[in-house]
Amino acid sequence: MRCIARCGSTNSELLNATPPDDDRVHVLVADEQTGGRGRRGRQWLSWPEGSLTFSSLWRFAPGAPVPAGLSLVAGLALARALEKLGLEGIQLKWPNDLLVHGCKLAGILVELLPGRGRTPAAIIGIGLNLRLPPEADIPEQGGVTDLHTEIPALPPREQLLAAILRELHAALDLYAMAGFGALRGAWQQRNAFADLPVRIFGEGSEIVGICTGVDEDGALLVRTDAGVVRVLSGEVSLRAA
Ligand code: ATP
Repeated sequence: MRCIARCGSTNSELLNATPPDDDRVHVLVADEQTGGRGRRGRQWLSWPEGSLTFSSLWRFAPGAPVPAGLSLVAGLALARALEKLGLEGIQLKWPNDLLVHGCKLAGILVELLPGRGRTPAAIIGIGLNLRLPPEADIPEQGGVTDLHTEIPALPPREQLLAAILRELHAALDLYAMAGFGALRGAWQQRNAFADLPVRIFGEGSEIVGICTGVDEDGALLVRTDAGVVRVLSGEVSLRAA
């Protein structure tokens, strides 16, 4: 694990300076992230004292297929770690957000490292709101929240990070062995849109229907008038319909 005072984005740091192949797991934590990224070039905002931002590089066995559903695995692991700290009401918004009572508490950005003849690797970035400053102005539709608001006693940052990494690496071990199917049920129990009307848009198309869950690859299943549609977590967004 490497802890640094400041960087643009912990995901970008790992993408640009990949640790050697024998380093199967590598974690980079930044006290301050000045250019945090969400999907499609969106910003992830964080504050030195008020956020926990880190990325974990995870290598798969040589020859392993391109992993699917990884952001769901990371979201589930984060949910489990926070639940063990007493946080109730966590819901997962497909594919990469963690909500509490409908407000966004954390975001996840998974990026795959280009092959370059090495063992395939994923970079899993997590941004968690610990204590947002009063001036924080985050343009998020359902609202945002922080851990300080949601649980009575905020554990020390190191303890929190250790708890999250424990769950993350346990979930990744299981995933590497058995695929997303082994975690699917647990993810669905926390699905923010289970059996609710949803609208999926992006990539020039729109799908409206009822969210029935996710499949063995972490694809979202939406029941429409034309049948069940399987949505892969590419460049699409999900909203309540
Ligand atoms: P979509 O709604 O398309 O699924 P998303 O919610 O998954 O997108 P991301 O790209 O993962 O969004 O994250 C970026 C978005 O998250 C920003 O556009 C902003 O709305 C929101 N955001 C940025 N910083 C924070 C933060 N600290 N806490 C909560 N939400 C944030």
